[in-house]
Amino acid sequence: MRTLLRGLLRILQALPFVLAVAAVVLWLWARDGRGGSVTRSGWTRSSTRVDHRVFIAAAWDGRAGLRWYGDRYSGEGLARGEQYYAGQFSKGPNWEAQPGPRWSDDHTWPHQWLSLRWDYVNAPGPGGVTTHWRSVTAPTGHIAAAAAAYPVARLLLLTARWMRGRRLARIGHCRRCGYDLRATPDAPAAGGPLLDRCPECGTIRQAAAIAAAH
Ligand SMILES: [Zn+2]
Repeated sequence: MRTLLRGLLRILQALPFVLAVAAVVLWLWARDGRGGSVTRSGWTRSSTRVDHRVFIAAAWDGRAGLRWYGDRYSGEGLARGEQYYAGQFSKGPNWEAQPGPRWSDDHTWPHQWLSLRWDYVNAPGPGGVTTHWRSVTAPTGHIAAAAAAYPVARLLLLTARWMRGRRLARIGHCRRCGYDLRATPDAPAAGGPLLDRCPECGTIRQAAAIAAAH
């Protein structure tokens, strides 16, 4: 159980790095007129309505997005829905890869905040057919930058901490808290002895830990 939890924790810690790499790959791939999409579509029916649902995840020409799209047939539209549904039923929900949509110009976006665009439409049509969709898109470059921000900051912080520790250790101080570990006034470079353990924070000096392990 404990090992399992530790494994899960490790996966969670790695997740931001994996996502950042994926976002950068997406950004490099889907630009200059290139891209692609994954579509999942399917039908469901109940006694009062038939629903056709489509989910699209696409990245194209520097923009990536998600779209949920659907047609609902109810009331006087139910018979028509049943007809379409019967024809599609054997296919069931399926995934397919295909080009498009081009998020940049495939429609006008009523909502925008910074570089994020989205829409939300419920359009009741004639004859008991309602079309509804919601989409959200953002530039792949911005997604990549946002996804990379945390991993890059974390790497910079770790590097800064490591360099500080090395600098402190070189002058005979604890690499964690900076406490002076010299047993005599002599500098470590001049062969001055050092304490094995920091009396201030308890950290074992790295060279002493390595010596103890052998
Ligand atoms: Zn210390």
